[in-house]
Amino acid sequence: MSKQFQAIVVGAGPAGSSAALAMARAGLDVALVERGTFPGEKNMFGGLLHRMTSIEEIFPDFWTKAPLERHIAKKGTTFMTGDASFHVQHETVNFDHTPYNGYTVFRPRFDRWLAEEAVKAGATLINRSTVEDVILKDGRVTGVTIAGRKGELKAPVVIAADGVLSFTALKAGLRQPKFSADQMAVGVKALFDMSREMIDDRFGLVRDQGFANEYVGCTGGVRGGGFLYTNYDTVSVGIVVHISSLRNSGKTPYDLLNAFLEQPQFAKLLSGGRLAEYSAHVIPEGGYTMIPELFGNGILVAGDAAALCNATGVNLEGINLASHSGILAAKTVIEAHERNDFSSKTLKRYKERLDLSWVMKDLKGFKNAPKMLHIDRIYNEYPELVCSMMEHIYRIDGTPKTSIPKLIMREVQQKIGLKNAVSDLMTAWRAL
Ligand SMILES: Cc1cc2nc3c(=O)[nH]c(=O)nc-3n(C[C@H](O)[C@H](O)[C@H](O)COP(=O)(O)OP(=O)(O)OC[C@H]3O[C@@H](n4cnc5c(N)ncnc54)[C@H](O)[C@@H]3O)c2cc1C
Repeated sequence: MSKQFQAIVVGAGPAGSSAALAMARAGLDVALVERGTFPGEKNMFGGLLHRMTSIEEIFPDFWTKAPLERHIAKKGTTFMTGDASFHVQHETVNFDHTPYNGYTVFRPRFDRWLAEEAVKAGATLINRSTVEDVILKDGRVTGVTIAGRKGELKAPVVIAADGVLSFTALKAGLRQPKFSADQMAVGVKALFDMSREMIDDRFGLVRDQGFANEYVGCTGGVRGGGFLYTNYDTVSVGIVVHISSLRNSGKTPYDLLNAFLEQPQFAKLLSGGRLAEYSAHVIPEGGYTMIPELFGNGILVAGDAAALCNATGVNLEGINLASHSGILAAKTVIEAHERNDFSSKTLKRYKERLDLSWVMKDLKGFKNAPKMLHIDRIYNEYPELVCSMMEHIYRIDGTPKTSIPKLIMREVQQKIGLKNAVSDLMTAWRAL
């Protein structure tokens, strides 16, 4: 048996549901196919939902309707060694009560809600259905097959929004079968239950304010970092590490996460909390050079499936890029229906739209960030340098002080080496 739609979206994550919502609101008959028992069941992230201007266009009351936790009013970075830490933090009234600096959300709740909005607009959500292949006719994608089920879903165009390992893009020949371990990271997260009052007191928050913090030097020398995000009455903590560096270390992500959670400077932030769950997921961190073919005859690729994730070392953005690309893919499909042409001649407009958007501009602008993030010294020597320098600056012990410029030079020479420091600075300059 085969069922006919005007468009099929594979994957009900932020990319897929945004695409389905935009197409359904334009009156298209859309199938949104999801392998989980509900959208979001299998999804996790850090996680900060950043500003999503594209969805606000089609959904003006998005921020009042979405299931949000806390809005991020302050952000910080902590450099850590085994026995010291140095923390910098930014807080401004401009980030209070606006979506500009993001909200914490839970993916099972958020993804489910967004997919339901697509359904309200008229999309057909098909849960518990893993797409295993694309149907090709005369070199054109004309539908998908679902694992373990006879029958097919047919449509003149398919949007592959099935996440970082996208088998749909692979089957359509739009990406290489193998990924480079250098371009992939893995994130593991632990969720701690804590009362709302405890979170407010501990992190200095009021109303629905939230706090987001990144940690450098907490991954035992493995390239990567840690994070802490406050939710309404839980705290998300975790690490994200490069897979190639993890493999070389011989450690498991859980070894690293547990070591991070046990560091005394960090453990006290979680005291009184109850560990509720663990989760893990892969992240495409290769940036601009990792982006595969974005369109073909009868197919478009959006979100993580297209490696549209911007990890600069300062911010990690994925959901906003996924949603924006999903909406641009939807606009292109709507146009293809108006022209009744689903060949790559019309679908290439998707790439043109993306190229003109902030998504590609940002990814291009930060295309050297992955190279910077491969400097191993960032994860060991630099946190040691920062912590040791601050200890010397703050120490008053009845001995003569070294001037700060002299101290910096001495510490840089001892811990990094002048040549390395200049080279790292140049790499960072080009990356950021
Ligand atoms: C640890 C970690 C921290 C992160 N932190 C942040 C953050 O703070 N802020 C941020 O913006 N981004 C963050 N990201 C990145 C962000 O999560 C992703 O960029 C984003 O989820 C991509 O959305 P997507 O819709 O493209 O893919 P996904 O969210 O992966 O959704 C894909 C969907 O497709 C479904 N699917 C997969 N295969 C099939 C199939 N064959 N058939 C049917 N359905 C299928 C999946 O079940 C899923 O629902 C983080 C990621 C991780 C792992």
